[in-house]
Amino acid sequence: MANVNKRALDLGTQRSVIRELFEFGKKRIAEVGPENVFDFSIGNPSVPAPESVNETAIRLLQEMDPVLLHGYTSAQGDMDVRRRIAESIERTQGFKVSPDSLYISTGAAGALCGCLNGLLNPGEEVIVFAPYFPEYKVFIEGAGGQMQLIPADIEHFQIDFDRFEEALGPNTKAVLINSPNNPSGAVYSEETIRRLAQVLEQKSAQYGHVIYLLSDEPYRAIAFDGVQIPWVPSYYPNTIVCYSWSKALSLPGERLGYVLVSDEMEDHDEVYAAIAGATRSLGYVSAPSLFQRVCALCVDDTSDISVYETNRNILVGGLRDLGFTCVEPQGTFYMFPRTLIPDDVEFCEKAKDFDLLIVPGAGFGCAGHCRISYCVPTERAERSLEAFAKLAAYYQK
Ligand code: PLP
Repeated sequence: MANVNKRALDLGTQRSVIRELFEFGKKRIAEVGPENVFDFSIGNPSVPAPESVNETAIRLLQEMDPVLLHGYTSAQGDMDVRRRIAESIERTQGFKVSPDSLYISTGAAGALCGCLNGLLNPGEEVIVFAPYFPEYKVFIEGAGGQMQLIPADIEHFQIDFDRFEEALGPNTKAVLINSPNNPSGAVYSEETIRRLAQVLEQKSAQYGHVIYLLSDEPYRAIAFDGVQIPWVPSYYPNTIVCYSWSKALSLPGERLGYVLVSDEMEDHDEVYAAIAGATRSLGYVSAPSLFQRVCALCVDDTSDISVYETNRNILVGGLRDLGFTCVEPQGTFYMFPRTLIPDDVEFCEKAKDFDLLIVPGAGFGCAGHCRISYCVPTERAERSLEAFAKLAAYYQK
């Protein structure tokens, strides 16, 4: 065996359910054509970036000094970029942000890794609520911490506070939330955030140290029915927001996001410095320069998210008619219905017989469910109902 880091080797060679589904989909597309494969496996935005993104990129390429445009920015991101983002947050959330509280990152993934490495000492715990984005475990353990998973509240996909309070202990360093949520599509209500803040205030006082709240928000811009997404720093001062333009502007390949350390945080400057130091040690400094500027200039735009809302309506209605139980997503482009048998892995394997590629819930810490990524063309979502009907009929016969 190669003389390499064992954990890294395990991670690099692990079998990924989503990747296997993707390979299976490619094979089926070659056999039956792309229109007959219902690939709901991957969370890649299906609508293009808004026109403003292309126009801005082209204008910058034509008009800006190329040495500056393609050069390193400050490690924490260009000052003008940070100023524009701070102004946008103030405009949209009514919350005062200093540009010096923002660190421009390589997507939400880079933001989360910077924060976790900046906060955690070896063995400290981070609480995560199921169902959760599976990379959290990788990021937390990569930062030397331990993930503590709170079982899901499957009725509403809010927080099971009894289990949360039981799990919070003196070794809890941070709590990581994700709303709108991948994979459930749930949005945490104001009541949930208020109660979460109260518990964290109380437990921080009890244990004599700050418990940080990390709010991972790559889907903040994708919310339906006019639902209000609470601005978490307004409820809990010791909040760090991790944002990304991967989904809001359909730019996952450009790797752009930010960390915001709330200006009201205790020991704000040291927390920010620790995140900057961790980001430096990970080698993620000075995020891509062209797209820092594009995102800052398009900061209030989004791609056409109405497509996701249309797809949600088609699929939630269609699947409920077929006998599925599903909490209605209020945002993102995911839904997380219960599988028709308790074994979600077997269920998703059977779905492949009907060219339906859906992901078992077990990997998200919530067995008995499956994730459907409905970032697909609307006609594909519509036609998939026939395949779901065949799958349901198989189990209901
Ligand atoms: N957090 C969640 C919940 C996600 O779903 C994703 C990507 O799908 C990420 C973080 C990583 O996003 P990014 O592409 O901005 O690194």
